[in-house]
Amino acid sequence: MNQSYRLLQEEAGRCIGCGFCESVCPTQPASGFSEFMGARGRILISRELLRRLESGEDASALARSFYSCLDCYACLQVCPAGVNAGLASHYAKELLSGSSAPSLARMIERMVMKYGSIVPIGRRASRWARGLNIPRSGETLLYTGQMYQLMAYTSRLSALLHARFPGPDALASAVIRVPSLAFISNLFRDRKVASRMDEILRNIALLIKASGTDFFYLYEKEPYPGTLLNDLGFHDSFVSYAGKVVSLFRDVNARRIITVDPHTYDLLKNVVPSVVEGFDFEVLHYLEVIGGVEYKRSNGKFVFHEPCHLSRRFSGFSPAAEALGRAASFVLPEKNGQNTYCCGGPDELLFPRVAASVSERRAEQLAAASDADVVTACPVCLTTLSRRSRAVDISSVLLDSCIAGQER
Ligand code: SF4
Ligand code: SF4
Repeated sequence: MNQSYRLLQEEAGRCIGCGFCESVCPTQPASGFSEFMGARGRILISRELLRRLESGEDASALARSFYSCLDCYACLQVCPAGVNAGLASHYAKELLSGSSAPSLARMIERMVMKYGSIVPIGRRASRWARGLNIPRSGETLLYTGQMYQLMAYTSRLSALLHARFPGPDALASAVIRVPSLAFISNLFRDRKVASRMDEILRNIALLIKASGTDFFYLYEKEPYPGTLLNDLGFHDSFVSYAGKVVSLFRDVNARRIITVDPHTYDLLKNVVPSVVEGFDFEVLHYLEVIGGVEYKRSNGKFVFHEPCHLSRRFSGFSPAAEALGRAASFVLPEKNGQNTYCCGGPDELLFPRVAASVSERRAEQLAAASDADVVTACPVCLTTLSRRSRAVDISSVLLDSCIAGQER
């Protein structure tokens, strides 16, 4: 019995079937209240998955339920038995990660293993740093993880992947057979989004400079962290890939790593140390690093959307709200803190309709709290919510009010 099987058995085995988790799971209303697209349904399906695996039956028809999980952990907040249907879905994906995984997930795995990213971005990933004179070596590494940069591709890529012709499966199979077809994705780069994301990365670098922290950047050598390999359950590929990323960190003598987005921060803080032996880097989020920066409080007013990966994985993650509160005024929507609501973004590539519906719901919640602009601290949340609200990245608000950071 492998570890994922045993962990899934333990997680699903604690469920008492009360259904409390159904009321908070964003994918359930987003999929027309389908029983198996909610948290409790995922636990029920987990038991069926275990049964099928034990009896050697095909389990691929169950995959949709697990792969559509947003990994938001809202279910865990309300479960009286401490069950995390998000974690259960993760173990289930690990068990399905061979030929039972959706073709698009297998295509993404292939891309990351071959090109070190879900799309071959190449040198464009480091364009944001031009003119900032960031050193190429040092002790403290600024690691973007390419998350902001990838946002220039996600929505058009998703539209391409789900186009009627040739259809997601046919396209994924073609790219799996001929990986170089992935270069087509460069035609789908949204330049406006790309330049917006580059500006955000520049803002972040200027804020870190304003805090007096020295740092270096790897420019074209910076690798993608492998987040999607982990999220999609490709455990063996992820372990091998993460090992190479960590070797690079060691080769460049990094001691401290500053991340800029919640997904990379969570991955390096909570996941990579458990799969790469001797991972002894200090991992920080940039908002922790810039705690000493001084602001001249502006008249700006915002409604703050807290990303799940900060608020839930790090129990409220106070540096974001603290910095925002010193730079401007903000209100919180009804669902906030550890009860925040997912933006839908994690489903964008595989389940765009579910993603759009979740995001619509979150935009309504934010609008109900205030008609002010939305501010958030995650490239995925920013991209998804920007389609429905006026949204800005927290770094822009902070830099606008930062007394020492006006050298743009
Ligand atoms: S809240 Fe917990 S115990 Fe209740 S159905 Fe959901 S997972 Fe099971
Ligand atoms: S992690 Fe989020 S999307 Fe997944 S089952 Fe739990 S509440 Fe639903």
